[in-house]
Amino acid sequence: MPELLLKPGKERSLFRRHPWIFEGSIERLIGRARPGDTVDVLAADGRPLARAAWSPKSQIRARVWSFDPQAIIDDVFFRRRVEEAVARRRAMGLLAAQDGVRLIHGESDGLPGVIADRYGDTLCLQLTAAGPDKWRKAIVGALARSTGAARIYERSDSDVRGLEGLAPVTGWAHGEAPGAPLSIDENGVRLGVDVVGGHKTGFYLDQRDNRLLTRELAAGRSVLNCFCYTGGFSLQALAGGASRVLSIDSSGPALAGAQANLAMNPELDAARAEWLEADVFEALRVFRKEERRFDLIVLDPPKFAPSAAHAERAARAYKDINLLGFRLLNPGGYLMTYSCSGGIGLELFQKIVAGAAVDAGRDARILRRLSAGPDHPVALHFPEGEYLKGLLVQVD
Ligand code: SAH
Repeated sequence: MPELLLKPGKERSLFRRHPWIFEGSIERLIGRARPGDTVDVLAADGRPLARAAWSPKSQIRARVWSFDPQAIIDDVFFRRRVEEAVARRRAMGLLAAQDGVRLIHGESDGLPGVIADRYGDTLCLQLTAAGPDKWRKAIVGALARSTGAARIYERSDSDVRGLEGLAPVTGWAHGEAPGAPLSIDENGVRLGVDVVGGHKTGFYLDQRDNRLLTRELAAGRSVLNCFCYTGGFSLQALAGGASRVLSIDSSGPALAGAQANLAMNPELDAARAEWLEADVFEALRVFRKEERRFDLIVLDPPKFAPSAAHAERAARAYKDINLLGFRLLNPGGYLMTYSCSGGIGLELFQKIVAGAAVDAGRDARILRRLSAGPDHPVALHFPEGEYLKGLLVQVD
């Protein structure tokens, strides 16, 4: 097996069980390896540390499969890891309670570069690195076996594949396209999911628990849902008895999906819902001039900072929308504000939101710190897994 010799001192992050090996940590590759091949990782003194997937085009030159230097990386290895990930969700009762569940959350489930989401009997798989790309067949087979899913769609078209030198791969990897459009029940609300054309794997499962919280807070309140996508927060707010819900997104197809979702839930009062295709930054400025006010505002923007390098510009964007949000709240109103940027930590995000409140001249307090649900675990040795952070803030 090819060997990846590290520079002196560079074994330390592996002792902390961090699975990424950066280009700058590597002394040299001994032997030959093709993208995705398994390599033995050696400390500078030759001590074996781990087995990892080689990714010659990426800054993250290797991702650890196992910290056991003897581990055999084969079909059985993937079957075990996939079964363990599914069993974790089953043990929490998630598979029985929810149609929409993340089954594999990459590094935090011991499978770097693998994302798998379940929507009822359909799975959507995303492979983002050279290692899992090589083991596609084993991963698809393991998923089908451990879940009994009728079909698996591969949606490996994320931008990060470009950094790995991988072309996009999409299509049905197991079973056939379903006869009817796909939908899930999320805490009593029916939502369509488009695994082929939707964002990411079709739906933002990470906000499931936070959408439920919105429902619990919504009774009798006027709600503004910014960056609504297919209306997940909006529909839960309606289900919770919001007096009205105004939802904004810049994507026409997303809003069409949201309206179709509303139509699938005839018990919800559609007359209370309003949809606006607009840029949130511009729309909120207009609302401010019009002196409009809301009782609950959700800000769930896209990733402004994909990495730490974008943090400064992203911080300005977060500050800007949160400042506008604070200004539009009625006294006693709630702001549910999120960042899904890996490059912005919780501490920094909280500082940004605090700064926005000061500039808006509002006193406010944090009622809850929010994150993704338990189907998006964060391995303790992989803090990067905690990309979604949110605050529930109440203004005076
Ligand atoms: N809250 C959603 C997920 C939001 S994803 C849910 O629970 O499902 C982010 C959304 O922001 C996308 O739908 C994207 O179309 C939209 N978006 C991105 N930039 C925008 C902008 N400047 N103004 C309005 N919407 C924007």
